[in-house]
Amino acid sequence: MFDVVISGAGPSGSHCAKILTEAGFRVALIEKNTRWRKPCGGAVHSSVVDLYPQLKKLSSQKVTGVVMHSADYHRLEFEGSSDEFSIIVDRLELDNIMRDAALDAGAELFDNNVSYDFVVKNSQKMGVKTKSQTGTKEYRGKIIVIADGMSSKLAIKSGIRTKWINKELAIGKCAIIEGNHHLNLKRAYVFFTPFQGYGWIFPLNPKKYNIGIFTFGKDNLKHNIHQDYKNFVENTNITKLIPKSNKKVIWSSVYPFPAEGVLEKSLFSENVMIIGDAGGFVSPISGEGIQSAVISGQIAAETAINALRNEDYSNISLKNFRTNKEIKSIIRNFKLKLSMINFLYEHGGSNLNKMFKLSEIDSEFREQVVNMFAFGLMPSKEFLEKVHSS
Ligand SMILES: Cc1cc2nc3c(=O)[nH]c(=O)nc-3n(C[C@H](O)[C@H](O)[C@H](O)COP(=O)(O)OP(=O)(O)OC[C@H]3O[C@@H](n4cnc5c(N)ncnc54)[C@H](O)[C@@H]3O)c2cc1C
Repeated sequence: MFDVVISGAGPSGSHCAKILTEAGFRVALIEKNTRWRKPCGGAVHSSVVDLYPQLKKLSSQKVTGVVMHSADYHRLEFEGSSDEFSIIVDRLELDNIMRDAALDAGAELFDNNVSYDFVVKNSQKMGVKTKSQTGTKEYRGKIIVIADGMSSKLAIKSGIRTKWINKELAIGKCAIIEGNHHLNLKRAYVFFTPFQGYGWIFPLNPKKYNIGIFTFGKDNLKHNIHQDYKNFVENTNITKLIPKSNKKVIWSSVYPFPAEGVLEKSLFSENVMIIGDAGGFVSPISGEGIQSAVISGQIAAETAINALRNEDYSNISLKNFRTNKEIKSIIRNFKLKLSMINFLYEHGGSNLNKMFKLSEIDSEFREQVVNMFAFGLMPSKEFLEKVHSS
């Protein structure tokens, strides 16, 4: 009998396990496959690096700014605030480090176990059922945390939320490539597309980079992500930065992520909480999810610690997860981003084209664009009018 059973040892589940075990609780961390390299751009926000200083060994290079391009290739480069940066990592290494930190703290890992249902007794969820090569197993716990990402079976079985439908998702294809490039190692490169989505190139080191593209929302249905990826990497604006010759694809994959923000009505029920991608903790438009996965893992762990100390696992007790001010702030921030989508992408991204073009000649206007992307500030009415009338 564990205090908490966590399904999924990605960033959200591993972080949640670490906090719980550090507080003295017994945690089972169930993972389908620890050798899986989660498809990801690998951009990790500095707040996660602060929590896991051991990540610095994966990359000594801080990405402190972004070079953004509109769909018609107007260019806007900016430096972020002085205390915020990202590092670009190989996801397999990130997941290994975060999981090892949970295991060092005392969490018990059950690898090669696929969670597929709950152990139920008298309508009460008592634990998690898994399938492994040696048969089915049961892991019992007072609280169950669902952290097993987009393919979660438990999230559906819990009855807390329903299956994703295509338009609620983003679909991305990305690769790690070894080869020459002309990228500034302190910059992330973003290329907005005429459809909902963007392409990126994130430098890993002078001879390696992560490259990818995604579509989201209604545009998923109109697009073939493999074709979009091919068009992107062969585009002459991209091959200027990454020459076609001497390239070796180390790894490439396609995967979805939630595109419509946190499922705020579907985060918990009696003795169950949903965190990370499984709960929609991915920033709309940008697709960044590692930082909010970690925050959701932290708050779920804190909520579980209180519930365990009070021996109260009811949904009233676990509601503190949803009402926590950090979770509320993520939800607010994501809603703001969602409200910008139509403006940014209407008429094949023409507003973005105009914004980036105006930024090249008007420094005050440029500052507002930077504030919008870097700090999530809503543009003023005058700003929007200027874009529309240009
Ligand atoms: C193409 C792409 C690019 C991205 N780029 C970035 C980026 O650059 N920066 C960023 O911040 N975010 C990025 N994201 C988002 C980010 O990858 C996720 O938000 C983040 O990984 C969520 O962490 P998680 O722990 O909730 O889920 P996951 O990382 O998906 O981890 C879930 C874990 O559960 C395991 N699992 C799944 N099913 C089961 C099961 N049935 N039983 C047991 N275990 C199971 C999986 O093996 C996995 O280890 C990207 C996503 C995609 C798809």
